[in-house]
Amino acid sequence: MSEPVLQIAIPTPLRRLFDYRPPAGADPAALQAGIRIHVPFGHRQVIGLLTGITQTTEVPQHKLKRATAVLDSVPVLSAELLELLGWASRYYQHPIGEVMLNALPALLRREAQPVWRGSEHWQLTPAGIAAINEGLKRAPKQAALLATLRARPEGINAAELDSEHLNWRPVLKKLIDKGWVEMNLRSTLPPPSANLLQPPALTSAQRAAVEQLAGQLGQFHCSLLDGVTGSGKTEVYLQLIERVIAAGRQALVLVPEIGLTPQLVERFRARLNTPVAVLHSALNDQERYAAWLAARQGEAGVIIGTRSALFSPLPNPGLIIIDEEHDLSFKQQDGFRYSARDLAVLRAQKLDIPIVLGSATPSLESLHNVRQGRYQHLSLPERAGAAVFPRFIIQDVRGQKLEHGLSAQLLARMQQHLDQHSQVLLFLNRRGFAPVLMCHACGWHARCARCDAHLTVHRGQHKLRCHHCGSEQRLPGACPECQTEDLLPMGLGTERVEEALQARFPDARIIRIDRDTTRRKGALQELLRQIHAGEADILLGTQMLAKGHHFPEVTLVGMLDADYGLYSADFRASERMGQLILQVAGRAGRAERPGEVMIQTHHPDNPLLAQLAAHDYPAFAETLLQERAQAELPPYASLALIRAEAVDPRAALDFLQAARQAAGPTGSDQPLLLGPVPSPMERRAGRYRAQLLVQSGDRQTLQRFLQHWLVRIEQLPDSRRVRWSVDVDPLEM
Ligand code: ADP
Ligand code: ZN
Ligand code: ZN
Repeated sequence: MSEPVLQIAIPTPLRRLFDYRPPAGADPAALQAGIRIHVPFGHRQVIGLLTGITQTTEVPQHKLKRATAVLDSVPVLSAELLELLGWASRYYQHPIGEVMLNALPALLRREAQPVWRGSEHWQLTPAGIAAINEGLKRAPKQAALLATLRARPEGINAAELDSEHLNWRPVLKKLIDKGWVEMNLRSTLPPPSANLLQPPALTSAQRAAVEQLAGQLGQFHCSLLDGVTGSGKTEVYLQLIERVIAAGRQALVLVPEIGLTPQLVERFRARLNTPVAVLHSALNDQERYAAWLAARQGEAGVIIGTRSALFSPLPNPGLIIIDEEHDLSFKQQDGFRYSARDLAVLRAQKLDIPIVLGSATPSLESLHNVRQGRYQHLSLPERAGAAVFPRFIIQDVRGQKLEHGLSAQLLARMQQHLDQHSQVLLFLNRRGFAPVLMCHACGWHARCARCDAHLTVHRGQHKLRCHHCGSEQRLPGACPECQTEDLLPMGLGTERVEEALQARFPDARIIRIDRDTTRRKGALQELLRQIHAGEADILLGTQMLAKGHHFPEVTLVGMLDADYGLYSADFRASERMGQLILQVAGRAGRAERPGEVMIQTHHPDNPLLAQLAAHDYPAFAETLLQERAQAELPPYASLALIRAEAVDPRAALDFLQAARQAAGPTGSDQPLLLGPVPSPMERRAGRYRAQLLVQSGDRQTLQRFLQHWLVRIEQLPDSRRVRWSVDVDPLEM
């Protein structure tokens, strides 16, 4: 029989697997799918991933290279994850090698034998235990080390060995070579708390949800937990997870980037009788690897993390939770453009475990799935505890003279609430001092040299900064066109509002939260701490303030500008605006003090605003769903967006035109191609951008079409001269 052929995923932009012969002398039993393997690739040795074994290959025998070495004895990707990632690679049309390798912690992608330094420890193997009585008379150091190891059956680490033996590493190596000792890795998760907090008595809606969900553990069910902010969704998760842990299983909890706060992790640790592994983007490679190990070894009963934590190993899967399922951050916006929420539903289905999608403002996609009977709907219509939902006031600001964006009515109300020693929260989704700098004498505007965009004035730092490409320059003292010194910052940013508030309410303590004030590590935590400690009167911020935080002392929320979402080119803008308004509103009014939300708008008669003000998210969503159905947009159609960019002004458009041609004639059963058109901001960071939209009423049709079409696009002569990408189910247009 001829040698088997290994199918290896390699991190390259090529959309295929690569065939290799097994490493010389490799034990056939060691060749399991999901292990890493060293292979020659071009002129380098790279770490690839074995995805499967076949007997045949199209590569001629003499060209078939031999893999160099097997790197793992246990697969780093389980069969279940291999299958999920394979599916994701096809669905999102992203090269399989990048998809597979990206699912691993960086250390495993880079190093053949990574070591979690904090946790190395050594233990006797069964052979080592049996070997104890054999003579080591001529190797007294080995005998002494063996004695130490025998006294420590649970294992011993480097620091402990240092205290008992000099220069033990070479001696230990001899024992390892004999097969008597093995090294293990232990993560360093804090053990569960000794005094776990007691759960509160559930409200009847919470109890109904927990009982319903608990009855479905052990099989696939997808549920939408639709509960207003503060209705106790997290409490439902906690009580459900308790049952999952009690059954010896693991729960995976995904939260938005911004929602993964130490307070949330603390809340989980204080309640759950299991180590909790945390995965987020601020971890270093070692920490990430440790959390991954803790998940894989089954040591962590709960894994809580942002988007990419979806790919955590789960040897004992029990439950998946997606909190704030409508949040944009679950979709990766570059490279492998996957939706962690959508893939999580698929993963749960393949694992045959339940998944809960929670939100106060569910995505239209999920609401649609509920209507189609695909998801179960559970609702928590009331706030937990004594809190009531805030009252909305729609403030018509047409024709009003605003004081730095604040209407007289909003200012008066702020005064009232401050007089009652409540906190006031103001929301403006624009950071910096002003979005535009204009010359009053000649009309010059400060524009980014590399983008079709204005530069934002950052007065505190004396900078003009582009929020799209990051370039910056000193704030000019005079107009570069006419040299007049009459430069006017136009429009509002949080920095400017803060300054105005300081002048208007000199005694108030103001805290501003946006990307500028929270850049430094730990800065956001410190500001949140001050807010919770009552060291602030006015909180002002961007959407960083809108999510996930509870501010019990806030009784008035002001939305300075609600209009941008009502009339935008992006068809999802109004959905997002509504979600944002309700999320911001959800920060107000707790317990004994009911809240108020004032929305400033130039469109007070807009029906969407009226529905939001009536706390009627279902009606709001219904209006939008009808619009989407009429326009044949998601969730009633599937989309893919091909984006291209190039330094040459025409190249991206020309390339997409050629791509469109390459699709051939489109019949009535084919997807619709719309464009190409220049992107909404055509030039960014010195490149001209264009896009081509593919729309189909049927997901499978779109998939089949993309598969054939992309192969042709790749063969276009220009496909290497422009940067291009495909985004399936795009969230941003
Ligand atoms: P959500 O996740 O829906 O925003 P949380 O679970 O965070 O809601 O609950 C909001 C607040 O209400 C928290 O302070 C929480 O401790 C409290 N809470 C939740 N459930 C109950 C309950 N059954 N009884 C009393 N307080 C509760
Ligand atoms: Zn000028
Ligand atoms: Zn720019």
